[in-house]
Amino acid sequence: MKSTANVLALVLILMPPSLQAQVGRVGEDGIKIYGEELPERCDIELIVKPPPTCRKEVRTVPSYSGKICYIVFPGSTWEQNSPAGVIRDAQTFFEKYCIYLNFEEKQLSKRQQKRYKKWYLRWKERLRRSIVPRRHLKGLKKRLKAQNPNLSQNDLNQLLDKTVEDIVKRASIPKRLHSSFYRKMRSLHKKVARKCKRTLVVFIDEYICYNPKPTRASATQLRFNQIGITAPDRRSHNILAHELVHLLGKPKTYRGGTTSWEHQKCPNSVMRVTRDKWYVPYNFANDLTIQNYAEMIRNRAGVKLIQKVK
Ligand SMILES: [Zn+2]
Repeated sequence: MKSTANVLALVLILMPPSLQAQVGRVGEDGIKIYGEELPERCDIELIVKPPPTCRKEVRTVPSYSGKICYIVFPGSTWEQNSPAGVIRDAQTFFEKYCIYLNFEEKQLSKRQQKRYKKWYLRWKERLRRSIVPRRHLKGLKKRLKAQNPNLSQNDLNQLLDKTVEDIVKRASIPKRLHSSFYRKMRSLHKKVARKCKRTLVVFIDEYICYNPKPTRASATQLRFNQIGITAPDRRSHNILAHELVHLLGKPKTYRGGTTSWEHQKCPNSVMRVTRDKWYVPYNFANDLTIQNYAEMIRNRAGVKLIQKVK
C-alpha cells in the first residue's frame, strides 16, 4: 500500500498542475459542479505561433470561474435529449485553461412553456409550408412513388415526410420567419437572462442569428449575449466551447472582439471552421490561441461573466 502511495505522489509531482487538478464533481445530470476548491493559478498550453506553425507553449495564469445560464427551448428535441453532454464537453475544454464554468438551467413557468412551444410548432410549420408549399406535395409524392413503386402507402408517406424535411433543412430561412425567430429569442432573453448577467445559452432545433443574412447554424448573437445550439450539434465536439470563445471575447454585449469574433487558420484552433452544413455534426479542434485567451480574459463578454478565483 505504502509503495503505491509513494509512486502516486511521485506521479503527481511530475505532472503539470493543470493535469493534476481534479476539481469539481459531476452532478446527477452529468454536468460538472465547481465549488470552493479551485486552484488560484494554473499552467495552460496555448497556441503562441501564427499559422502555419501554430506551436503551443505553456503559460502560468490565474484561474477564473463563472456561471452561465441555459434553457431548453420548449418544443425542441432537447426536451428528450438532455444537453448535459454538450455542456460537459465545453466544461472539459475550459478546464484546460483554468476557466471553471458552472451551468444553471432556467425554467419558464408552465404557462409560458406552453406559449413558447405553440409559437415554435407554428413557426416550424410556416417554414415547412413556405419552402414546400402544400400544392407541391401531390406532385412530389407522385415522383417518389414512381421512383419507389413497391413501397406501401405508409412507407411512401414516411418517405415524403423525410424528403420534405431534407429540402427544408437545406433551404435558407425566408426573411419574415427569420425576423420572427430573432424577435422571439430576444424576448426570451429579456424574460430569462436578467439574473444571469444578461447572458443565455438556448438549446433549440435550429438557430438564427441577425448577421443579418439568415444562417441556421449554432451561433452567438452580435447584439446581445445569447448563444443558440442546434439539435444536430448534440453530436459535435467543442461546439459550445467555440461559441463561448466568441461570447467571452465580446468587449460589449453588442460588439464582437477583435480576434475572438473571427475564425482562424490554425488547424489546431477551436476557432477554425471548415463546416458548410449546419445539419451535419462537426468536430472543432481542441486548442486555443494566446490572442483569443487574452481577449476572453480582458473582455469577459462585456459583463464580467467570469471572475478571478481567490
Ligand atoms: Zn464561429
